[in-house]
Amino acid sequence: MGNDASPRDVREWLAAFSTRLGIEMRGLRGAPIPTGDDVLLHHSPNVWFVGDAAGLITDLGGGIHYAIESAALLADSLAGGEPYEDAMAQTVAEVTGMARSIELNYFMRCMQISRSGAEVPTV
Ligand SMILES: Cc1cc2nc3c(=O)[nH]c(=O)nc-3n(C[C@H](O)[C@H](O)[C@H](O)COP(=O)(O)OP(=O)(O)OC[C@H]3O[C@@H](n4cnc5c(N)ncnc54)[C@H](O)[C@@H]3O)c2cc1C
Repeated sequence: MGNDASPRDVREWLAAFSTRLGIEMRGLRGAPIPTGDDVLLHHSPNVWFVGDAAGLITDLGGGIHYAIESAALLADSLAGGEPYEDAMAQTVAEVTGMARSIELNYFMRCMQISRSGAEVPTV
């Protein structure tokens, strides 16, 4: 499964995998954890996202810091402070940049492995 797999692709893959193991998948609670490549702060006029729900998590830096920071900045914004998206601009750039460098790092490691003649792992 490639990096561009959607949550539906992942669920279908997991269902097929479970079937092969003889397990019936009746339902799946939860969703793949975002990794900074799909940040959404402002969903609709009165709906904002913070933390994991906003996609503010990276494989490198975790997500607790971003969850606390985004919640504090949204609260501040709703209380009349700096607009949430503006206050978060630097953090979003950081998270998005980290996601890109992780993808690049994964690609480089795959190149190294394939040059070494070993099999590249697939998810
Ligand atoms: C295995 C694992 C290890 C991790 N390790 C680290 C680490 O070392 N360092 C780090 O920084 N980050 C780590 N993270 C990520 C970190 O836990 C999250 O980024 C952080 O907890 C996000 O906080 P949040 O408030 O956005 O979401 P959450 O902490 O997930 O809080 C969301 C809350 O909403 C509740 N909820 C969900 N749906 C509903 C509903 N319909 N009604 C009411 N309540 C609801 C949930 O029960 C939950 O309590 C790890 C995550 C995992 C899964």
